Amino acid sequence: MNDVHILLKAFFINTYNQNQTVMAHRITDTCIFCGACEPECPVTAISPGEDSYIINEALCVDCVGHHSEPACVAVCPGESIIKV
Ligand code: SF4
Ligand code: SF4
Repeated sequence: MNDVHILLKAFFINTYNQNQTVMAHRITDTCIFCGACEPECPVTAISPGEDSYIINEALCVDCVGHHSEPACVAVCPGESIIKV
């Protein structure tokens, strides 16, 4: 592979990555620490933090392939989970 091919490959990989839509959910500071969301997450992305529960956004898959809607949002009593 010559330099032109390497540059072209880098360009297309960069363009491809920029077009990927990575979505996740996030817990806001209105969380009342009830814990209802944690066992509902199919990928164990939710854990307790200091003042609120936290979603590991690198793990959250928006429940795609697991549920028809985000399971954490469905059980949260305070609308504390938002899409980011
Ligand atoms: S949207 Fe689904 S995968 Fe993401 S944190 Fe909530 S329960 Fe877990
Ligand atoms: S269900 Fe809602 S209020 Fe309860 S811990 Fe999870 S984010 Fe916080």
